[in-house]
Amino acid sequence: MAINRPAQSQILLLASYPYGGLWAVSALCDQDDETTDHLLTACVFVREVWHCLLRAVGLQQLTPQQNATLSEWWQQTRQALPSTFRRCFDSLVLLTLWMLWKERNRRVFEAMSRTPHQLFLLIKEEADAWIGAGFNSLSALFAHVA
Ligand SMILES: [Zn+2]
Repeated sequence: MAINRPAQSQILLLASYPYGGLWAVSALCDQDDETTDHLLTACVFVREVWHCLLRAVGLQQLTPQQNATLSEWWQQTRQALPSTFRRCFDSLVLLTLWMLWKERNRRVFEAMSRTPHQLFLLIKEEADAWIGAGFNSLSALFAHVA
């Protein structure tokens, strides 16, 4: 069975996506190439979401910088935290990455978008649900959020 050209090009784009940003322009900011690091840490939209989250827990100084890579930022930031908060921080990062990915897909596939603040509120709501379901490692940070 032959694959038509548009389908073939979509497959090539999907296959190349994690390796170099050949997908296109960021669905979150419509400005820069959509690489993994851009989507999860460096994008202006993403950094605003991180800032809202980290400000809510008193750690706004740890907001990723524009040239940040996810792995370096995550490792450096968790090292800057007291060891008792590291597991909680890891959970917050995982939750946020998941929500950022869902927001990206919502924009690409449903043509709907949220503001950084709306996404922050949604992440906070999701964190509360995770804590309610027994995901206690998140509660150490979010216990202080009003
Ligand atoms: Zn962007």
